[in-house]
Formats: sequence, structure tokens, C-alpha cells
Amino acid sequence: MTVSHWQQVEQTHRDVDFLIVGAGLAGSSAAYFAQQVHNREVVVTDARDVGLGASSRNAGFMISGLDTYYHRAIETYGRDKALELWTLSHQTIAHWREFIKNSPFEVPLDNCGSMLLAESEEEAKELELAAKALSDDKIDIEYYSKDPLGRGYYAGIEQPIDAGVQPYLLAKSVMEQSGAEFIPNNELYRIEQTEDDCVTVYTRQIIFRARYVMLCTNAYSPMIDPYFVGKVVPTRAQCLITEPLDDVPIDYCGYSDYGYMYYRTTFDGRFLLGGGRKDFKAEENDTTEDRLNPNVQGYLDDYIKKFFPDVTAPVAHRWSGIMGFSIDGLPLVGTLPGKSRVGFAVGFTGHGLAMSAGTTERAVDMLLNGTSAGAVDVARLG
Ligand SMILES: Cc1cc2nc3c(=O)[nH]c(=O)nc-3n(C[C@H](O)[C@H](O)[C@H](O)COP(=O)(O)OP(=O)(O)OC[C@H]3O[C@@H](n4cnc5c(N)ncnc54)[C@H](O)[C@@H]3O)c2cc1C
Repeated sequence: MTVSHWQQVEQTHRDVDFLIVGAGLAGSSAAYFAQQVHNREVVVTDARDVGLGASSRNAGFMISGLDTYYHRAIETYGRDKALELWTLSHQTIAHWREFIKNSPFEVPLDNCGSMLLAESEEEAKELELAAKALSDDKIDIEYYSKDPLGRGYYAGIEQPIDAGVQPYLLAKSVMEQSGAEFIPNNELYRIEQTEDDCVTVYTRQIIFRARYVMLCTNAYSPMIDPYFVGKVVPTRAQCLITEPLDDVPIDYCGYSDYGYMYYRTTFDGRFLLGGGRKDFKAEENDTTEDRLNPNVQGYLDDYIKKFFPDVTAPVAHRWSGIMGFSIDGLPLVGTLPGKSRVGFAVGFTGHGLAMSAGTTERAVDMLLNGTSAGAVDVARLG
């Protein structure tokens, strides 16, 4: 991200203790941990306003786990790390529940659980293996060897701990509960650490001198520092929502096709459907362009006809959002090379509601106290 010479005329200078860049779910929760748990004086700034990135554009699925099925996570990361990551996800959901309980305004939450569904015999076999691995590690699930919804799926895994949330209000609530000062409409364009204990952060309105800086800029991180190029890939996702329905088509946060499809009923009785990018990766990957893709939206329309023909209400609204996919599917926590006071918590790979609060808790502790962030520590990339 850049700022022109002409835009810099009104810049002021300011000393701050702990500066967070990015005010989504990650930045808001990082602000809470830094200010309320570690007693730092936190300022958060964002190019736009609180939660206007992916955090207010997602489907609101508070679903435990990663971008991969549990047995596949064990194969890829090892059993201990897979269990650690699922536990981190449960901690994240527990944090959101606490924030919602203490929220100064209502944040709608539907404790509906989730239902992971198979769209083919092959995917059903994967679900059976995932269910066995989850049960072996005593993670509370229920496995269905047949379609639990009667809609043409092949098998299902129910996770009762999961829920659907209004994500924009959640981000706003967490920011408010953090007690941090917030400065909107203020792009970061350069970071320098010239002293051991001080970082100069150039933003369009203000040049900050900060003791600590935390980047929570997810998909946009490669536009801030070349370190993130190739480690975080901006990836577009699409959603639609119908007008309110007379009947509830699904009681769960449902998802299928290896996580590429997701659907739920909203608090006001609408059907929300997202995903559909599996066959359109060339168009949807490696872009920060917020725009509708007619091919993906057409896929979503066809999906309703195939699996939810009873959903006949017209589509009321369509939107897109930009996710930050990390190179190995796990969040990235660390400090920038040569900038020991600049931490980051990015790369939530389409699972920020599942992973971000637990991850930022570790990231803040790592930046302030040098603790390891465990399985989400970027040190794993070597
Ligand atoms: C359509 C869609 C559906 C999704 N569904 C789900 C779901 O159901 N469940 C789930 O867990 N996850 C879902 N996700 C992913 C989830 O939304 C993200 O993982 C999560 O929001 C990431 O939060 P974040 O705070 O890291 O990023 P963001 O919310 O994107 O916040 C990053 C912030 O950084 C700011 N920023 C960037 N660059 C700069 C700069 N240079 N200067 C200042 N500010 C800057 C941006 O303005 C933005 O506000 C979905 C995403 C999309 C797009």
C-alpha cells in the first residue's frame, strides 16, 4: 500500500506505546489482550474503519478447526500439533463467547452447532476417517453415516460446540471492549525500526513512534512488507443471502465439498450461501479486488437449485471479501526480520472466527515477552 507525496501535507507526529494496524477480528482481539491483559496503552489504526475487511464480510461460522479435515491435519502437521490447533480453535470460540456475554450491545449468536457434510462417496470416506480421528482425541462430535439432512448428501459430522454469529457486530464489540483508542481512515505505508526499542510507523495522517507494533492486516500484508509475499495469498470469497423465508431450510452452520461450500439460516430467517470458488481458483486467487464474480455467483445459484430447491425466496444481496491464505494453511505469528518490535498475526486462511482470538492472544504475548506461539509460530517455515 502506498501514499502519495501530495497526501502527506497534514501529517502529525505522535508517540504511542502499542500500535496495532488493522481493525478486524484479529486487530480488535489483539487490542483487547494488549490493553486489558498486559496493561499496555493501545492505539489501533485502519485504512478504513472497524471490521470493514473480511471480518464483516464472512458467513459468521464459528466453526472449530482448520481449513482441512482432522485426520488430514494429523498427517500434515502431526498428531500433537493437530490437537494443539483444534484446542486453539476451541479457545478462540470460548473467547468470542466471553466477548459476546460481556458486550455493551447485543451481538446475535445462534448456538446451532455445525454440520460438516459429504457431497460424494469419496468425501464420505474422508468424513468417516475425520470422525474417527476426532473421537480418538476425545473431541465432541457425532458422526452420521447417512445424510442427516435428507438433501442428497452422503454423510455428516455434527460439532455441537460451534455456532453462527453476526461477525461485524462481534468485531465492533471486541474493539469497544478492548478500551483502545481507534483511528480510522489511515493507511500504513512504511515501517522502520532504527532503534532497539522504538519503531517509526508512517501512516497517511500520523507518523507514529511506537514501542511495539502489531500487524493484523491479514490478506493485505504483502502490500505492506515484502516478507509476506508468497507467505500470505489474498483470496477472494463470495456470498449471497435471500429474502426472509417462511420455513427454516437448515438448523446448523452447514458446510461441504471439503469446506468450499457453506450455508446457514440467519437470525432474521434468510438463507445465506457462500463459497463456490473451487472451480474458479484462477479468477479468485491472488487478488485483493472486492467484486462479484458472475461465474462463482452462478455456481451459488445452481447450488441452491440442487441441494435447497425449497429455498425459493429471491436473492436479496450478494457480496465478496478478501481472505488471507497462508502458505501452509496455518496462521502466521512472529516478528518481521530485523524488526524485533514489529509483530504480526496474519494468514487466517478463511478461518478467522475459528482461529484469530486464540492466535492473537499468543501473538501479543510473543511480542511482549518472547514466548513461543507454538504451532502458529512462523518459525516453523524455517
Ligand atoms: C466471504 C467470506 C466468508 C468467510 N466465512 C468465514 C466463516 O464463516 N468463518 C470464519 O472463521 N472465517 C470466515 N471467513 C474468513 C474471516 O472473515 C477472516 O479469517 C477474518 O475476518 C480475518 O480477520 P482479520 O482481522 O485478520 O482480517 P480483516 O478483517 O481483513 O482485517 C484486516 C484489516 O487490515 C486493514 N488494513 C490492511 N492494510 C492496511 C494498511 N496498509 N493500513 C491500515 N490498515 C490496513 C484492513 O482495512 C482491514 O480492516 C470468510 C471470509 C470471507 C471473505
